[in-house]
Amino acid sequence: MTTLVMKFGGSAVGMTIGLTQVLSIVLFEHERWDRLLLVVSALDGVTDALLEAAHLAQLSNRRGYRRIVANVRQRHIALIEHLPLGVTERNALQADIDQMLFDMLNTCQTLAETPDNEFATNTESDHENEARQKETLARINAIVAVGERLAARIVAALLRQNQLRSVAIDATDLIITDDVFNSATPNIELTRERIENNLAPMLSRKIIPVITGFIGSTTAGKTTVLGRGGSDYTASVLGVCANADEVWIWTDVDGLMTADPREISAAQNIPTLSYEEAAELAYFGARILHSRMIEPLRERQIPLRIRNVFKPQQPGTLIQRSNPALSAGLKAVTSIQGLGLAARHSGPLSAVSLLVDETLFKLTGTHADVTLSTQSSSESFVCFVIPTTAGADAVHRLQIDVEERLLSDPFVSQWSVRSVNITTVIGTQLDRQHYLTAEILMNLRDTPILTMAHGPSGCSLSIVTEMDFGEPVLSRIHDVILRNG
Ligand code: ASP
Ligand code: MG
Repeated sequence: MTTLVMKFGGSAVGMTIGLTQVLSIVLFEHERWDRLLLVVSALDGVTDALLEAAHLAQLSNRRGYRRIVANVRQRHIALIEHLPLGVTERNALQADIDQMLFDMLNTCQTLAETPDNEFATNTESDHENEARQKETLARINAIVAVGERLAARIVAALLRQNQLRSVAIDATDLIITDDVFNSATPNIELTRERIENNLAPMLSRKIIPVITGFIGSTTAGKTTVLGRGGSDYTASVLGVCANADEVWIWTDVDGLMTADPREISAAQNIPTLSYEEAAELAYFGARILHSRMIEPLRERQIPLRIRNVFKPQQPGTLIQRSNPALSAGLKAVTSIQGLGLAARHSGPLSAVSLLVDETLFKLTGTHADVTLSTQSSSESFVCFVIPTTAGADAVHRLQIDVEERLLSDPFVSQWSVRSVNITTVIGTQLDRQHYLTAEILMNLRDTPILTMAHGPSGCSLSIVTEMDFGEPVLSRIHDVILRNG
């Protein structure tokens, strides 16, 4: 029995031409595999809009969130109007969309009526305060989850219209997670059980489930989300729990590239990568993949393919177990903004690390990772990688909050904070092939480096500079990759 999980991203499901491609891909693969599971993201831009709506609801800005929800509705209705659907299917879909948005508006309303954290009563215990904050986060997660729920219904309707047996399924019924809202972690054992009980019978009847990416549910039934870009993670968890032979991510680019093509026009497609290299690439900023999706696949050795939904004839990128014969040399370079903290003294770093972690957690529900730190007799420098799953503006918001806390806390008042650039080059055995590191550094000429380190996985080298040097460092390293790739 062969099983394939395919995930379609927001740019594929967000447009009529994308959906036409989705349909023809599914019609084709349906003939080739015994069991097919589909995962979909929200239409592109919809998660951002819903987050904004939740934010406005928290500020009790009723007009603001209603306007956003009306736009979201309009976007979905316009999309289904352009799809070749029968009248009954279209009407049912429209009623479904309206019902879901109506329920979501109620959640926004509740959020708008809940007093803000800052106005919480002083008599409240820490425990009560924490419980209340969790409740708020649960509501926000339920609001943003609606994007995927809408998309899944549209895709399933389209497949049904084309003589495929298909149903939309909310992953809240399948993927059981912890209660870390915004960045939940699925419990593989519980999820496997659900899949065996609820999904396997359907799959054996050749029904194609269209499952919502990004979302899950706690054992208590509260909706959670798996971090920005989390639909990839959903596909990987489903792949593991349904014993898939392969997982494919369909996106709008040709696969993983040697650099972000928006930054480096000479970037090229990478045909194959090891799990370790792909994980490093995602962790250090390649937004095309969710950084936590690789590990479950690596453990079970399930191959992962990244393919372009608009060019299905292209092979894309294959991520699999490393194969020394195939995988020598440098693969890719990424660049992200990180947070650098510096102090004119030497001493323990724990207080400042804790402060950054707590601040980020409060802001986004995700933890910060210390990536690189150096100390000399009189100075200290710590650099944090902020997971891309925390959202695009997380570093900026974090910097403002951390600055405030440094000013108000005498224990850490000697520290200063600024944004820094982290450029990471990925390649096989970078911890041993020192000529590669030497060539990279030679190419950087006299660029001042704040700190640098080889990653413990042996396949990455990260170089931290001031923001201004980010661009030239990226392009110079990319030149080295093209020479040595
Ligand atoms: N829709 C979610 C997001 O925008 C999840 C995903 O696209 O993978 O982050
Ligand atoms: Mg994505």
